Amino acid sequence: MKGVLNMTKLGFYNGLREIGGTFVVVETDTARCMFDFGFANADIIDNKVSCAPCDMAYYYVNLGILTPMDGIYDDTTAHKLGLKSYSEDTKKNFFIISHMHIDHMGGLGMLDPEVPVYMSSDSLKLYRAIASTGEAEVREHKNCIGIDYDKTFTVEDITVKVVQVDHDVVGACGFIIETKDGSICYTGDYRFHGFHRDITENFAKTCHGANVMITEGVTASFEDIDMLSLEEPADMGNSEEVVEEYMRDKIANEEGLIVINNYNRNVERIHRLINVCKSEGRTLVLEPIQAEYVHAFYPEDEISIYAQNLDECCFDIPDDWKKVSRKDLISNPSKYVLQQDYKHIYELIDLKDVLSLYVHMDGAPLGDYDPSYKKLHDFMDKLEINYEHKGTGGHSRPYYLRYMIDHIEPGTLIPLHSFRPEQVMSEHAGCRILPEYGDFYELKNGKLSKINN
Ligand SMILES: [Zn+2]
Ligand SMILES: [Zn+2]
Repeated sequence: MKGVLNMTKLGFYNGLREIGGTFVVVETDTARCMFDFGFANADIIDNKVSCAPCDMAYYYVNLGILTPMDGIYDDTTAHKLGLKSYSEDTKKNFFIISHMHIDHMGGLGMLDPEVPVYMSSDSLKLYRAIASTGEAEVREHKNCIGIDYDKTFTVEDITVKVVQVDHDVVGACGFIIETKDGSICYTGDYRFHGFHRDITENFAKTCHGANVMITEGVTASFEDIDMLSLEEPADMGNSEEVVEEYMRDKIANEEGLIVINNYNRNVERIHRLINVCKSEGRTLVLEPIQAEYVHAFYPEDEISIYAQNLDECCFDIPDDWKKVSRKDLISNPSKYVLQQDYKHIYELIDLKDVLSLYVHMDGAPLGDYDPSYKKLHDFMDKLEINYEHKGTGGHSRPYYLRYMIDHIEPGTLIPLHSFRPEQVMSEHAGCRILPEYGDFYELKNGKLSKINN
């Protein structure tokens, strides 16, 4: 019965001890706020196995990739899963999405099309570009609402503020979620070594004193860390600036063609690289999808695209984008840098005689957990291509995870999005909780207490 419990509950599902698929619920008597909606372990899906789009949500829930939850799937899917569908649920269900990485948004095309999904206005701009270039999983989710940074919106008795963070994708943000019982900040993914450390610092200031802090802990995943004893590193290591300076040097000094394999949603890096190339007398030639992302955010940039594979392109190419052919690259290799997705790597068979360097800069395949990673290296060796790795991740190094918590000083700390969340700690958090799948907590006067299921 409506209003009887009159409490705020936090529920924890996917993504607690893994990197990706974070699914947390903040629920009152009338509304349910959920974040995020990506994939935890989608690599168990084999793209050699056929899967009808309308059945994907059902399959993904059964495989544990998506969370079974009332009020978010369409009638057919929900009923097969024994859940209430979106249209049947009397609660106001909505999502908030921190950023456009697949591990945070890959499931959007599997929601009931009517579910409201809030994100930053920049994320929405990128999401629409992702959809228009055919890159959205399953289908584009239509009912998305863009909210500007620092603005709030309210659904029933839950108010959410969108607070920008710096990450390696444009549009990234975290949130402050408030009900009458307290405040919860969710960091999303963040870093201090991007072009905008100030933005992440500002997130900490804005969230200072939150009752509950839910933070990512990716970089605490891989080795033993005594987080409390970490000291501030002397420098930021491979920051975005360091990567850019490395590229500037190569662009100025390599004699032949340079090919880069980058992550195409890190739009600012490519925007800046267009200008670095220009100042060094080269042209950065983009694949159409990358060009579309740059154009969405930097419409003033002069765009050059590679004229191979244009038949794959599913959107209209503006007339003022300059087309650069394979012949152009071969006759004047020192005048170009080619941005290339791994998908098109066989193109290098034609370009290898003029290619002086291939730089792997955060593009896919990213690491040896991906079976394609070895194939990329085998290919490079087979063709005797000179290749280097120069990238920088999107996640705060361990010291800076603690730095963020130290500065927010939450009442309760909840680390997740990490293989080893127990390694994430700070002396400036009141207490710490490491929830298990399906755990529920009541939030009352800013404090969390476990609800026995
Ligand atoms: Zn993530
Ligand atoms: Zn991310």
